[in-house]
Amino acid sequence: MSSPSAAARERELGAILERCNDLRQAAVPADAELPAGFVGTLGHFPVYFPEEIAHAAGLLPVGLLGGGNKLEMKHADAHIGSFICSICRSTTEMGLNGSLATLGGFVTHPICDAAKHLAGIWGRNFPEQLAQILYLPQNPNTPGAVRYVAAEYQRLRSELEKKAGRLVEDEAVSRSVRLYNRNRRLLRELYAIRRDTPWKLSCTESYLLVRARTRLPCEEHNALLEAALPLVHARERAAQDKPRVVFVGGFCEQPPLEMLEVLDDTCYVVDDDLLIGLRWLTSDVPETGDPIRALAESFVDRSAASPVQHDERKTKEEYLMAMLRAARADAAILTAAKFCEPGLDEQVAWSKHLDAAGIQYLVLEFEEKMTSFEQMAMQLETFAESLLFSIA
Ligand code: SF4
Repeated sequence: MSSPSAAARERELGAILERCNDLRQAAVPADAELPAGFVGTLGHFPVYFPEEIAHAAGLLPVGLLGGGNKLEMKHADAHIGSFICSICRSTTEMGLNGSLATLGGFVTHPICDAAKHLAGIWGRNFPEQLAQILYLPQNPNTPGAVRYVAAEYQRLRSELEKKAGRLVEDEAVSRSVRLYNRNRRLLRELYAIRRDTPWKLSCTESYLLVRARTRLPCEEHNALLEAALPLVHARERAAQDKPRVVFVGGFCEQPPLEMLEVLDDTCYVVDDDLLIGLRWLTSDVPETGDPIRALAESFVDRSAASPVQHDERKTKEEYLMAMLRAARADAAILTAAKFCEPGLDEQVAWSKHLDAAGIQYLVLEFEEKMTSFEQMAMQLETFAESLLFSIA
């Protein structure tokens, strides 16, 4: 049998990407619509959440990433200040307008004051849903950090056992760890394509492929990536004359898809921190021994970096420089969501450091509800042209 033509492969990949885009906008499934093995859903707010524990409890982990730029705000203003970032406001709106009524629970983290207080809003307004704060440490540099995280994961496990009405045995968590390890390997492969052959996979396409995990069980997401990655590898596309950039600042609130498309038009985005929580553990979690302890160790010792964690082993400046070096990038796009204190704080440190290091960068602010991108497109075009001129 002859292998499929390039056009047929492209159609197949196009269909997968279209499915991912539909999932991006899909409603949270009701319990009766869940795949076999799941008894409910559990929403989790960025940045990182140990999905393996919810998966093992039979609760489908649902990443809550705000309302995008089509959501009409009608109720949230009465509950949350206008100076709070958009993702907190739109998540509250989605709760209040009933879009998240099928969720079995909501877990947030103390990444900032705004995110931490969402659990209180949730608990008061939706008492039928579990509302929890998972207290992941902002500073993991103390000797007791792993023990502390493991204890917090055990607490989460017992809350989820009550919600799911079943015990979560170690063996079930280990099975989930193995599935997610496969997912981590596939996501590392996807990002390697971005670094090595960025003309084969745009930042927007990569984002859609990764984001599909916020609505799919891990096993289905693995199958989706296993189908997509060979098609991406096989793409026959010529490299264009575009600068290589790293994009940072998208670790929590999501930049609109149109913004990523504008970026792709002018640059090769060879690495980014988009959906970094889904890629937080940077290597496989050990598959033997106590799986909860293994997850806690991986969180503390083998994890990515973001502005909401203060780990002296990965300073703001150094982790950005490491991204730039590993991706052989010419420059950085430093973004922050409007009203995002951790993001804006990091942006100042990054720009000062890049000035000193003589590395070019562009500062952009975004909001998930943005709908106009002309000005940003012009800024990016000018930046890309100046980069091409200076690196020629
Ligand atoms: S976007 Fe920034 S301010 Fe808003 S919840 Fe996330 S970290 Fe907090």
